[in-house]
Amino acid sequence: MRAVSALRDLLLGTDSRMRLRLGRSLAAAGVGVIGMSIQFVAVLMGLTDATLAALFSVVAFTSLSLVYVALRTGWSLRFQDPAMTMPQMVLGIVALAAVYAINPAIRGMAMLIVAMSLVFGAFILPPARCRQLGWLAVAALGLVMAFSAWSQPTVFEPRIEAMHFMLAALVLPVTAYVAGELSAVRETQQAQKRELRAALDRLQQLATHDELTGLPNRRQMMELLALETRKATRNNTHLCFGLVDIDHFKQINDTLGHQAGDQTLVLFARLLSTALRAGDLLARWGGEEFLLLLPATSLDEAQRITERLRITCTESPAWESLPGCRVTFSAGLVLHRPGDSSALTIARADAALYAAKHAGRNQVVAESSL
Ligand code: GH3
Ligand code: MG
Ligand code: MG
Repeated sequence: MRAVSALRDLLLGTDSRMRLRLGRSLAAAGVGVIGMSIQFVAVLMGLTDATLAALFSVVAFTSLSLVYVALRTGWSLRFQDPAMTMPQMVLGIVALAAVYAINPAIRGMAMLIVAMSLVFGAFILPPARCRQLGWLAVAALGLVMAFSAWSQPTVFEPRIEAMHFMLAALVLPVTAYVAGELSAVRETQQAQKRELRAALDRLQQLATHDELTGLPNRRQMMELLALETRKATRNNTHLCFGLVDIDHFKQINDTLGHQAGDQTLVLFARLLSTALRAGDLLARWGGEEFLLLLPATSLDEAQRITERLRITCTESPAWESLPGCRVTFSAGLVLHRPGDSSALTIARADAALYAAKHAGRNQVVAESSL
């Protein structure tokens, strides 16, 4: 198994997009190689000239190898379409036109395969490209038919070539047009899928975050609380809850207006959340009240951290952008007891917060010191 995956890494690389590009290209090359083998069966049956078939195989194999090298080395990344889909399709159609000339006895099959390859375009090319390929196929086959009828009129009977050309000129553009329509449907569906994904992401953001501050909202925090309390119990680690409430916030609203109040909340949330350690959580619990969750943190540590937050917040130069809005906060901290509900722990944090307010505000009170 390991040898297989090592070989796959070597052939297709490890980047998923490169793998997709190379996988598609190699699948097409595989079909080409099988086609060449069938052409050699025609040689064995005396239907096809051996030298021409050999020459064709050498040129086709070299072209396929060059495409592989261009994709595998990353050289094709310089193009808008690093999969080089269009050059590969053009190469395929030109090769099939050559197959038409090389195999006079079975040349009708080449036209069929050209039509089939145009249909494949619907899945990988934009609509306009599909239609262009249809015209290219008519032109390439037309040239080959005209040249063959002129140079070998006994083998490529001109009247039959004229019939073939009329059929090709009818069937191939129609096939290409239908492929283009399919491609347009595919593109519309992809665009709708992207829009739906973006709308879903936005809805998810709205449902889980507070629109004003961008912090997790109360509903989201409830889920995070359930998660963190379970984790703390399972790992037997400390978990601290903190209720943070802005002091005299009503005064900001009353004196500077509701909009200044909103701006204060935004800045306050930004200052606190950027000062937190990774893994700590802060949510807007309601109005000007925030819930702090400090996993794997003892009460002493939580007190030091919250004290640091209090100083960072009150002394931040960022408040200069909102004259008159600089605020302080009071916080109540508790250690979550395994088995207790989050609601009970929050009620205890509320009592600690009340004590901090009562003691004069702008301070952090941990439950143990009550
Ligand atoms: P204390 O120090 O006791 O906490 O006093 P306080 O004024 O901060 O507390 P109080 O509960 O009396 O007032 C909170 C105010 O917060 C009242 C409410 O109008 C305001 N508020 C709540 N949510 C928002 C909001 O989203 N934007 C604005 N601008 N104000 C809000
Ligand atoms: Mg308040
Ligand atoms: Mg409050």
